[in-house]
Amino acid sequence: MPKIKKLLVANRGEIALRIMRTAREMGIETVAVYSEADRLSPHVNYADEAVCLGPPPSKQSYLLGEKIVNVCKELGVDAIHPGYGFLSENANFARMVGEAGLIFVGPSPESIEVMGSKLAAKQAVAAYDIPLVPGTEEAISDISIAKSRAVEIGYPILIKASAGGGGKGMRIVDSEEEFEEQMQRAVSEAQSAFGDGAVFIEKYIGSPRHIEIQVLGDQHGNTVYLFERECSIQRRHQKVIEEAPSAVVSPTMRKAMGEAAVGVAKACNYYGAGTVEFIVDEKLDFYFLEMNTRLQVEHPVTEMITGKDLVREQILIAEGNPLSFSQEDLRINGHSVEIRVYAEDPKNNFLPDIGRLETYRRPQGPGVRVDDGFEEGMDIPIYYDPMIAKLITHGENRQDAINRMIRAIDDYRITGIQTTLDFCRFALGHQAFVSGDFNTKFVELHFSPEKLEPIFSPEEQELLAALAVEFFQKEESRLSPTQPMKKAPTTNWTNRLI
Ligand code: ADP
Repeated sequence: MPKIKKLLVANRGEIALRIMRTAREMGIETVAVYSEADRLSPHVNYADEAVCLGPPPSKQSYLLGEKIVNVCKELGVDAIHPGYGFLSENANFARMVGEAGLIFVGPSPESIEVMGSKLAAKQAVAAYDIPLVPGTEEAISDISIAKSRAVEIGYPILIKASAGGGGKGMRIVDSEEEFEEQMQRAVSEAQSAFGDGAVFIEKYIGSPRHIEIQVLGDQHGNTVYLFERECSIQRRHQKVIEEAPSAVVSPTMRKAMGEAAVGVAKACNYYGAGTVEFIVDEKLDFYFLEMNTRLQVEHPVTEMITGKDLVREQILIAEGNPLSFSQEDLRINGHSVEIRVYAEDPKNNFLPDIGRLETYRRPQGPGVRVDDGFEEGMDIPIYYDPMIAKLITHGENRQDAINRMIRAIDDYRITGIQTTLDFCRFALGHQAFVSGDFNTKFVELHFSPEKLEPIFSPEEQELLAALAVEFFQKEESRLSPTQPMKKAPTTNWTNRLI
């Protein structure tokens, strides 16, 4: 079995650092790649070797697959971990890596290809007993056929780009009158954003929950599920708060979802770490959405409740080792919550707020984990995702994990830029979140920027400040006696060194 001795991490920021930490624990040498904007980044500093790929834009640096493969050849690297984003779900890159005689720490190019297309994925799982959202199984281009299918499915429906991702390429249609126009828009958007105009129709589930299952498969046909993560707190289809386990999944539902996820993985001969996403309706019926063929941003919550290091498992699987545990060996221990700390201003429509981290102090203490890729004084570059850190807590139960998260948010010190910390604190303290009765509409339903404003208006704050000054002045005059104060009895007691 090939043993990985030197690993190149084709990524940046927190995930590059997180992968390298595990590699180091496993005695594997690490190579970082970076763009000119990331020259001083902790992931560059942490690696045993580091190579500059080029100017800041991703296309001129982190997406240069061929250059990265050449770096591996020059430095005697034997494996590449792609992290998430960038080249992680690029089947051509995975193929190129394999053809260069290197190990790709991830699934086969074929699995990536099948699951990269939402339609191909639906077709692949058809032979397995996987619940799918009612809809068309094929790309649809004829408007009149599409319209009659939409009537059969029942409005509201969702037009989705087969090649879509990152929450992009979806259009809700409420009635037949809007159908034609929305369909035309969806096709042209899909064409320009993804270079593939294929769209399909799905029933629009009104207020769904997003619950996903972590799977691990080895190259010998063994596949297990590491339970669920709930990621229903989203903003514009982007996850903001994740937790494991979900507040609403019962052991029976967990088993059914887990087995469905294993079925999806088997449908594409999956090996490595992967995530099977489901949408869950109000009746708690679940439907397969898609499979992400990479390590997920929110993977730490699964690590916290299972005690498994998913990067370590990925590396062992890539080396060809069989899984060292079975489904029965896996247990859920406590509860874990993760928040994504973005350099975005929640009071200003979550606009990116790029700048310098003037103060940057991480929370610490029991059950607190921070995965980040910045240090105090560093600038947040404008070229990439504005995520500064992931803050993760673990507790004995859900409420403990939430309380710990609120404490950790309060202990986090970030100045110089606006962040989503306040927003997350608001969400975590909200009754809907605490009770577990929420869905992907949480932000729309419950959040508005005023919710983050201080309880008092600026005028009230001024008044309060004036009252406070007056109070302290009075206190001071009361405490500074006109008569000399009686001297405390002298004793050598205080001078004694104990
Ligand atoms: P992407 O690949 O862009 O992430 P997904 O298919 O995973 O697309 O969907 C992203 C999000 O969009 C889901 O988490 C959910 O909030 C919403 N969504 C997707 N499909 C549906 C649907 N049929 N009905 C309602 N909401 C949906």
